[in-house]
Amino acid sequence: NELYLNIQPQYDAEQRIVGAEALLRWNSKELGEVSPVEFIPLAEQSGSIHNIGMWVFEEAFTLVQEWSEKYGIENVPPLAVNLSAKQVQHPDFCKNLEVLLEKKPFERGLIHFELTESLLLESEVESIERLRKLSNLGFFLAIDDFGTGYSCLGYLNKLPIDKIKIDKSFTFQITEDSRQASIVETIISMAKSLNMKIIAEGVETEAQMQYLLQHGCFEFQGFYFSKPVSTQEYQGMFELQLNNINDY
Ligand code: C2E
Ligand code: CA
Ligand code: CA
Repeated sequence: NELYLNIQPQYDAEQRIVGAEALLRWNSKELGEVSPVEFIPLAEQSGSIHNIGMWVFEEAFTLVQEWSEKYGIENVPPLAVNLSAKQVQHPDFCKNLEVLLEKKPFERGLIHFELTESLLLESEVESIERLRKLSNLGFFLAIDDFGTGYSCLGYLNKLPIDKIKIDKSFTFQITEDSRQASIVETIISMAKSLNMKIIAEGVETEAQMQYLLQHGCFEFQGFYFSKPVSTQEYQGMFELQLNNINDY
């Protein structure tokens, strides 16, 4: 019981919460807080990512189900969860996911699976089929860290991708490095012409947000808006917003 989730809200330009990402945390008795950057790769090597990942999904599905009952489906911002290649490749991936879904009738579109580009590159026909199945069930598929992998754009055709997430390494530099800024502009216009949604992560300054806004990206995630917070805290932030809307 040392694992838990943090949630980082995602915003529009009016500072309204329009979604969120579930981020895994490990508070180890022996080691203290361990970053997912350290333990996820180890879990992938050892194979335990399969069970850990299923636990994350179960938690996320439960949250979305509870929020839907409490606030009404139309008021619930979608929740993004991370999905690593090793999870999709596991032979029991679909079977175990089906078990989780059995008792939970939540609106599938409220869960966005974030896939890294390396997942798509490594994936064999079988994994692509499994991802397509997720999409057919109604889940959203988003590409995480876009632009940092090998950017083999062929997979954009092979899979029904709904959303692209601009990696924070680009966001950090858009106001300082004109070449990085050009890459971001290209990613945004590509997403637009392919009818995909777009969000930028790692937004830390007002200037970065303004730049993104001017170039057609209207969703943001980053410390400028909010750090990852506990699920209770996130729920509080979201309830406040809901009450403000109802007051109008
Ligand atoms: P990611 O999916 O790219 O997640 C975004 C990371 O950026 C998070 O780090 C988040 O805390 C951080 N971040 C958000 N806004 C800002 C900002 O404005 N500035 C900076 N400097 N950083 C920001 P975190 O939580 O340490 O997660 C690291 C990575 O671990 C994630 O990268 C993801 O690849 C992986 N991860 C986390 N949870 C899970 C999970 O449940 N399953 C899997 N497979 N991977 C996970
Ligand atoms: Ca992510
Ligand atoms: Ca990222």
